[in-house]
Amino acid sequence: MIYACQTKCCHFLFLGSERTAACPDCGKKRIRPATREERAAYFRQRTEALAGARRSG
Ligand SMILES: [Zn+2]
Repeated sequence: MIYACQTKCCHFLFLGSERTAACPDCGKKRIRPATREERAAYFRQRTEALAGARRSG
């Protein structure tokens, strides 16, 4: 499940489990399930990161 951090200036998107309680980026416990749009953004970022790695390698 994808989660989104609600902390101001963080808004980190990450893959977590039901036991995930805090943002792995800032450590705050202000996370919520990501919306459909945020999930799309998360996967788009990952795809772009992979494409970039392939280009440089
Ligand atoms: Zn955070």
